[in-house]
Amino acid sequence: MPLPCPSCTTPLDLTLEFILKNPVSVCPHCQTVMNFNVDKSIQKEYNQALQNIEDVKKKYSKIAKFK
Ligand SMILES: [Zn+2]
Repeated sequence: MPLPCPSCTTPLDLTLEFILKNPVSVCPHCQTVMNFNVDKSIQKEYNQALQNIEDVKKKYSKIAKFK
């Protein structure tokens, strides 16, 4: 789900992953600085979820292919 810029409402191709890695971003259209202020506990949970996905991928890598 692309998030629109809060200032110029241009749809930005920001993923949750990108925001978590770059909580402070600049809109390429209006140069507004967006501070998503990602909560540390949410960041931790997200990283944990990513790790779980990697574990599942490894577990099933022999019988299924993930893109
Ligand atoms: Zn903008």
